[in-house]
Amino acid sequence: MQRFPELMEKYRGWRCAACGEEMTPGPVALEYMGNEFVVELPVCKTCGQVLVPEELALGKMHEVEQILEDK
Ligand SMILES: [Zn+2]
Repeated sequence: MQRFPELMEKYRGWRCAACGEEMTPGPVALEYMGNEFVVELPVCKTCGQVLVPEELALGKMHEVEQILEDK
């Protein structure tokens, strides 16, 4: 599983928009440019909502590029 400590720090303490529960880090399978990989992202334990940071969604992060290069 891929971890992004800076992102987890940035989104620490965020609450689920749907039910107000605090989101906790958990493994999430993402597909990016046709590749699937598992990353640690904030997840709502109650309803399963996942917070996908825009850095990650837009593929802006250097780490994402590195993951893809390793494939
Ligand atoms: Zn929720």
